[in-house]
Amino acid sequence: MVLRTDIPLYPGGKTKAFTLSYDDGVVQDIRLAGLLRRYGLQATFNLNSGTFGQVDQYSHLKVKHEKVNKEQVRELYQNFEVACHTVTHPDLASVPEEMISYEIACDKRNLENITGRIVTGLAYPYGTYSKITLETARRCGIRYARTIRSTESFELPEDFLVWNPTCHHSNPGLLKLAEQFIGLGSDKRRPLPVFYVWGHAYEFDNDDCWNLIEELFQLISGREDIWYATNGQIEEYVSAWRQLRYSSDGSLIYNPTALDIWIRVVDEVYEIPSGRTAEITPAWKL
Ligand SMILES: [Zn+2]
Repeated sequence: MVLRTDIPLYPGGKTKAFTLSYDDGVVQDIRLAGLLRRYGLQATFNLNSGTFGQVDQYSHLKVKHEKVNKEQVRELYQNFEVACHTVTHPDLASVPEEMISYEIACDKRNLENITGRIVTGLAYPYGTYSKITLETARRCGIRYARTIRSTESFELPEDFLVWNPTCHHSNPGLLKLAEQFIGLGSDKRRPLPVFYVWGHAYEFDNDDCWNLIEELFQLISGREDIWYATNGQIEEYVSAWRQLRYSSDGSLIYNPTALDIWIRVVDEVYEIPSGRTAEITPAWKL
């Protein structure tokens, strides 16, 4: 007999998740947010609370690097997740420890004041971090943080404070990865797959590639087996799933968290409601 264990699923019994992460809070986020709404997608926007409204002209860019005003933030991002990108966008791997604390904690507090929501995420500016950065982020109440290291795969991070995305939207294999993801069946060795795309919305103007992101959205949206979620929703759900408690024979599962959790045992899908114990038929009995 082959002993099979249960396979976690996303909310509603969905087998995979798609998420986006966009940095710097630039004016092109307005158009991106419109597209996301049109296709029913979710995203996380990583903002620098110390530089709202700032306009820069960088030599490597054809377009201006123009940030949204503080007054626009609440409404523009109200249906999406807002996460930290530090107050002033320093390289967190090389600044003194007290500056790291300030850059993360103060950004978190500023963004919470503006949005009226608890902020739990961070995107490392330039993707850089050190061991001290991770420890400081954790102490500041950050639950997950994104790097810029593409994995070109769909696996969840072992440590959510080092969350490597699948790819940047300019990756030449973007649409191929999307097709690969769409075709993915459930695999108990790699449960809860996530397709994670990141970038900066000014790049769509600069590289004249709005059509590319829209092509991706057309391809990936409206699918029953995909959960369209923010980074924070995925972290919260996966962390809740990791807290399930099992009876010794696997026939009882207690969910001590505030979220309903879905699992599959062989062909049976179970919902384990928040705060409840569910009785299941463990795989060894089937
Ligand atoms: Zn940035």
